[in-house]
Amino acid sequence: MSTPIIDLTELFGLSGRGDAPGRLLGKLETANHTGSVKDRPVERMLRDPRVAGAHTLVEATGGNTGISLAVAGSMLGKRVIVTMSRKMSPGKVRQMEEAGAEVILCPLVGLDSPANFINVARQLGEAEGHWYVDQFNNPANVEAHYETTGPELLEQVRDLDAFVAGAGTGGTLTGAGRALKERNPGIDVVLADPAGSTLGPHLRGEETEPAPYLVEGIGGDFLPPLLDFGVLDTAYQVDDAEAAAHLRTLAAAAIDVGSSSGTTVGAALAYLRDHPGATVCALLADSGDRYAETWRNQAWLTDHGL
Ligand code: PMP
Repeated sequence: MSTPIIDLTELFGLSGRGDAPGRLLGKLETANHTGSVKDRPVERMLRDPRVAGAHTLVEATGGNTGISLAVAGSMLGKRVIVTMSRKMSPGKVRQMEEAGAEVILCPLVGLDSPANFINVARQLGEAEGHWYVDQFNNPANVEAHYETTGPELLEQVRDLDAFVAGAGTGGTLTGAGRALKERNPGIDVVLADPAGSTLGPHLRGEETEPAPYLVEGIGGDFLPPLLDFGVLDTAYQVDDAEAAAHLRTLAAAAIDVGSSSGTTVGAALAYLRDHPGATVCALLADSGDRYAETWRNQAWLTDHGL
């Protein structure tokens, strides 16, 4: 099943803009079974023969991979242990626990600290009978997007000029980006990056100090090993306030998506300002249901100046 493409051109006021208004599309990954794009890599990573020999699956996650793995693990009869930074929304923990996973919340510290969520998962993965799924290094993560997300886009959007997504592991952009470029090297692959992340500046050859931001699941303070910067054409940085504004616009049209979709829509609109008339598709990575206490909660938004 392909996830739907929705047309956001009118919602974002593009249709009335001059002779070459452009087209803004969204790929609605909320239509996947657990409500996020992460069902794709999880399904593919669990084809690994090492799954059969493990009683426990361990993973480090921004939340969505954990939700997907928790559900898959319960169907496979495997114990699932997930590590996640405390920054992430409590709704994600709830969904993982409802599916029977054990969630270990870790402090928001860099990879140089043993308490970092990725280091904690790697350590737990070494125990007898445990398998560390390791989406940050597992090539099946990229393959899933190379074989599904990219070809779907080519099939669904015939005159695509640019694909816009964020990078957590980089699996989406590297996998889908390679598939798009292979078919049509003229398609731009665009990184949507939260302001404060070091990834967008790195693409421009600048090494910056990371700054905190609230958007979840994308950007970061380290270069994800699977992210192929060679496949990226350009990056746009979007701050939390702009992401929140776009989420409000989407919510008002009953399009219920999570924080990183505000960033991808912001980056797609910036791309359209630079490329009038283009057809751009932004990945809408996850459902708003897991952000009930945060991005979909007015009191929280107000508290955070959003
Ligand atoms: N958006 C959200 C909400 C996510 O959770 C993730 C994955 N952490 C992404 C986007 C980025 O996907 P990828 O890991 O393929 O780069």
